[in-house]
Amino acid sequence: MATPEKKEEPPKVKPLLELAKCSKATPPPNPEDYGPIITVTVGNWSSKREFHVYEGLLSHYSSYFKAAVKDCWGNSKTVELKDDNPEVFQAFFHWVYTGKLYFALDASGEVPLHFPLIYEIYIFGDARGALDLCNAAIDLLIQKMNQEWAFPQLHLSYIYENTLTGSALRKVLVDFAIDTFRFTDLVDPSQRAKEMVSYPHEFFAELVVAFMALEAEPIPSCVGYATPSGGKTLDWASFIKPLICSRYHDHPAPPA
Ligand SMILES: [Zn+2]
Repeated sequence: MATPEKKEEPPKVKPLLELAKCSKATPPPNPEDYGPIITVTVGNWSSKREFHVYEGLLSHYSSYFKAAVKDCWGNSKTVELKDDNPEVFQAFFHWVYTGKLYFALDASGEVPLHFPLIYEIYIFGDARGALDLCNAAIDLLIQKMNQEWAFPQLHLSYIYENTLTGSALRKVLVDFAIDTFRFTDLVDPSQRAKEMVSYPHEFFAELVVAFMALEAEPIPSCVGYATPSGGKTLDWASFIKPLICSRYHDHPAPPA
């Protein structure tokens, strides 16, 4: 009898943290209000991609598109966004149709979007008046940081150049650093990542302010950071889940 071939097991990854749908999110529009389809061309040269989206969906979720559709695109039904990244618009496109920023997790169960792309989606949503998109990017960032259990410190300069003080994107990263990261790379050169990390001054300033705000409280969770004595640790995911909506989401004002 032939022995069955050994199946190769896909690498195990931490299952994606399930998050509740934001209760203050903009409800989807009535399909009867979708209106005509607009052709949106995004990017330049070889990266250029074309998307076909209902005008009503674009303007429902973004105040920028709402104004632009009214002012100038109404008749031509075409839009060119030369300076935008097609991958970012693709995520926006998926999200307006499905409520998710990607189609499916990759074969090993990982979030298929890399960290810088998630930041870009947030910054795009911020610039285009799409608060719900920003919230979706924050949720996905939390899921990805939890899944990979890594503080993504490589692109802080990009984030700080493209966001303002008080931005939820900054806040979630500052909090995650405080909860989970020990900055050993700053004091021990051997711990330094191959790629040189440059921490923006503003990031450190916000970190100090956040530490001061803890006052006599211990670091919120001491998260997933097993203490040598086997002390009690709180799982970061359970700690952060109930806080996400009130702490990191910007909610659109309900219609008057
Ligand atoms: Zn919310």
